[in-house]
Amino acid sequence: MNTVTFVTAKLLADAGFPQPILSFLQRWCTKISAETFERHTIGFPGDKFYIYSDSFDTSGICFMPTATDILKELPGWNLAYTNVFKWIVYWDAPGLAEPIQFSHENPAEAAAQAWFYQHEKAPLCKKCNTPAKRGTALKNILAGSSEWADGDMEGATLTLSGNADLIKCWKCPECGHSWQ
Ligand SMILES: [Zn+2]
Repeated sequence: MNTVTFVTAKLLADAGFPQPILSFLQRWCTKISAETFERHTIGFPGDKFYIYSDSFDTSGICFMPTATDILKELPGWNLAYTNVFKWIVYWDAPGLAEPIQFSHENPAEAAAQAWFYQHEKAPLCKKCNTPAKRGTALKNILAGSSEWADGDMEGATLTLSGNADLIKCWKCPECGHSWQ
């Protein structure tokens, strides 16, 4: 069973990934030292660290989700496999020329990256202090990169031409200010 790693499981739990009710064959991890975790599989006797769910204390431990566990929390995202990129979790975002995608040889890790992307804490607009939303913008390739030094997109030429690239950015829903 492919689950996320111990480190990713902890990051997910800390970021608010739902910790489910215990059920058969789930994997959970317990921290024993700064770098050591112990893996538990619920009620699966073949596993080295198997334990039974009725004696398991879930306080201070982290659920180790599989790709399907994570995708249940990511409606609209898809999972695919390619020889080159291995597992890809992607979303056909409206208005974007290409899907937003994350790849990894472990599908659970690819899904975790997508979950972190989706649940990223929005920064505040520096002009009006409103929480930003993920948006898209066109970046003119001919403009070069120098005017993007501070990530500010003001003054950028936004045209639908063959020389423009769609890029992901933050956009303020209040005043329209956008930045990378
Ligand atoms: Zn604003």
